[in-house]
Amino acid sequence: MGKRRRSLYIQQQTGRYLGGVATAALLMVSLPSPATQASGLSNAQQQLQQANQRAEQLRQQIGAYQQQEASLNQQIAHLDDQINAKLQAIEQMARQINQTKQQIAQKKEAIAAKQHEIEATHQRIAQRQQYLDQRLRATYEDGTVSYLEVLFSATSFSDFLTRLDQLTFIAQQDRTLLKEQQADLEKQQQQKAQLAKEQEQLVAAQDALSQQQRQLVAIKDALQQQQSEKRQQLGVATRGRNLAAGELTTTLAQAQQMQAQIKQLQQQEAARQAAAAAAARAASSAAGGASSSGSSGGSPVQEGVWAWPLPGHSYISTDYGFANDSVHKGSFHDGIDIPAPLGTPIHAAGDGIVIAAGPASGYGDWIVIDHGNGIATFYGHMYPSGLLVSVGEHVRKGQVIALVGSNGFSTGPHLHFGASRNGASVNPWTLYR
Ligand SMILES: [Zn+2]
Repeated sequence: MGKRRRSLYIQQQTGRYLGGVATAALLMVSLPSPATQASGLSNAQQQLQQANQRAEQLRQQIGAYQQQEASLNQQIAHLDDQINAKLQAIEQMARQINQTKQQIAQKKEAIAAKQHEIEATHQRIAQRQQYLDQRLRATYEDGTVSYLEVLFSATSFSDFLTRLDQLTFIAQQDRTLLKEQQADLEKQQQQKAQLAKEQEQLVAAQDALSQQQRQLVAIKDALQQQQSEKRQQLGVATRGRNLAAGELTTTLAQAQQMQAQIKQLQQQEAARQAAAAAAARAASSAAGGASSSGSSGGSPVQEGVWAWPLPGHSYISTDYGFANDSVHKGSFHDGIDIPAPLGTPIHAAGDGIVIAAGPASGYGDWIVIDHGNGIATFYGHMYPSGLLVSVGEHVRKGQVIALVGSNGFSTGPHLHFGASRNGASVNPWTLYR
């Protein structure tokens, strides 16, 4: 509880202190704060970078989806070929099965016809047997038209012999016919057995064909199942690609908007700098050559509070103010140029929060640190790879934040070091003197 009370007290004190500063800042600010503008620009640049990164990701996704779709289309076409081949085989199998069925039907008819023949032969044999029996009964056993009577009613011996011959001949003929008919029957039964055997073979062949056909149908079904799965995957890939393409269109439109916004913010910043320069010029002539910002409301900066951004490098190639060298050509130079070899570490002038770290018109890539109390410092001409901190990061005085570059509007490796106070460019020397 005690601890919480104490921290609450500190918060109240801090709040009061910050409140006072905020009120002072509000009274002094007439131009838009450079920190706010820089932070807006930096936000826009960050958003543009994010949009471009997202667009690149989406392009890669679309490419991957297209590859997947091409591969799936190929697989589907290949499966189509296989399925068609199986369908043809199944059709051929069906034709063979039909032929076999017809052959079986023919065999059945042939067997039925043979059966009729057999029955007819059976009847003929039975009839023949009956005739023969009747004749024998008539001749030997029965009394009505006796065999002997036929013989004894012969008119002469030769007639008797003739009659005997005839009777014998008839009986023999009966027996011969019977034998022939029995032989026919045997042959017909054999033929019928052969036909039945052939029918059995045909039925077995039909069963085998049907089984082959069922196997082919099973394979074809499996192939069709595979194909429908591939088609589903293709649908998913196409939907994914369409979604990514839609998002890419939106993202590119956003990036375009962001670029327009950045351009606008950069133009505003250039106008603000020109206005600040004009104000500084007017103040300078009014004060008769006094420091442009030395008299503006009393410096909150104490000696030794600020760190030098490039320790060991104190030569200044272009000082703050109107510069008339080949690079600046009489324009207002809103910072000091400190030459140093490429890659020399740049140190933060004081504690603060990074509010910009990225491309800035003319300065190559730059870093802006908001130190609070309305003071910001900025560091220019670095390369993107030379930025070692990012927006939102808290930095400590003397911390290495970047490496010297020669990026942007620059004739050689140097640090452009600038400062601003409540929205107006100030001579960075005021931090140290
Ligand atoms: Zn410069």
